[in-house]
Amino acid sequence: MAGLGVDVLLLSLGADLPYFCGYEAMPLERLTMLVVPRDGDVHLVVPYLEAPRVVERHEVFEMVTWRDGEDPIAIVADLVGASTTAAIGDQTWAGFVVDLASACPGLGLRRASEVTAPIRMVKDTAEVEALRRAGAAVDRILADVQAGKVALVGRTEADVAAQIGRRILDEGHHRVNFVIVASGPNAASPHHEPGERVIRQGEGVLFDIGGTMAGPDDVGYCSDITRCVHVGEPPSGFAELYTVLHDSHSAGVAAATVGTPCEDVDAAARGVIDDAGYGEFFVHRTGHGIGVEAHEHPNIVAGNELPLVAGHAFSVEPGIYVPDLWGARLEDIVVATVDGPDAMNRIDHGLAVVDG
Ligand code: ZN
Ligand code: ZN
Ligand code: ZN
Repeated sequence: MAGLGVDVLLLSLGADLPYFCGYEAMPLERLTMLVVPRDGDVHLVVPYLEAPRVVERHEVFEMVTWRDGEDPIAIVADLVGASTTAAIGDQTWAGFVVDLASACPGLGLRRASEVTAPIRMVKDTAEVEALRRAGAAVDRILADVQAGKVALVGRTEADVAAQIGRRILDEGHHRVNFVIVASGPNAASPHHEPGERVIRQGEGVLFDIGGTMAGPDDVGYCSDITRCVHVGEPPSGFAELYTVLHDSHSAGVAAATVGTPCEDVDAAARGVIDDAGYGEFFVHRTGHGIGVEAHEHPNIVAGNELPLVAGHAFSVEPGIYVPDLWGARLEDIVVATVDGPDAMNRIDHGLAVVDG
């Protein structure tokens, strides 16, 4: 904070709050805010009716409750005091930001992520182990899909997705973050919402699943994996596309060494797809950071010159999406280490052929 010229850090909704104080605020219209001055005591301003959910940690913060009818913005403004620059949580409701700006005229506002992302981005050993446990759990689920142990043909995407969602919880996650089941041409939409389409013989099915599992200090850490299967032998065009995708994924993971700029990892994966002539169909960055949030810094994207350091955790997930025809994506979570890239997902990368 001193280096960035930030006098006070203000954290509300989002993952910064549980990461730093162990308490996660519900996305309510009532204000919750952790006020962290550069020098001085930390206070957690919390609605009185939420206080029973707060585990007090006096070594970290003192709790200040407010009741309906009181003005929580005035309480925060009082704690902000004479500060001239505040870094405010990126996911704070805009309404509170506007009200706080009015209550503290002249207060300069920055994004809290300028302060928090460099800290959260680098995972310690316990955090990496939490990511590894979560990764192993989703591995077990998609390994069963690859082995044909989950019936697909004749079922809707939504039905299969519901089964996998329950399994994510059964495997030890406490929250399901997303379950994408995209069949046939639906796999050409990277964030397809599983629906009523019935999965048929002779088509590909993409699974991208993830949840949050308890880690150190009861803060949750995320899993995120993508695999594709094909019901029956794939047509040669799809098999060829998948081979390019697999080569792209391997190149991306191999490039993810300490000291390599994030954008070079993206370029390594993208180059393979470009060279094969599918470049226009790879429509997103190669990956995103992961930790207490499913998507956090660092992004593996063109323009991000940040060099990887040991402890950076991120996805490598190239995709090729041919509209109205088919699509595929291959995703592992990888941690940069001094010994090279360490994958949190270990199951087969090939296009598994299942009977249905
Ligand atoms: Zn991802
Ligand atoms: Zn994913
Ligand atoms: Zn591979």
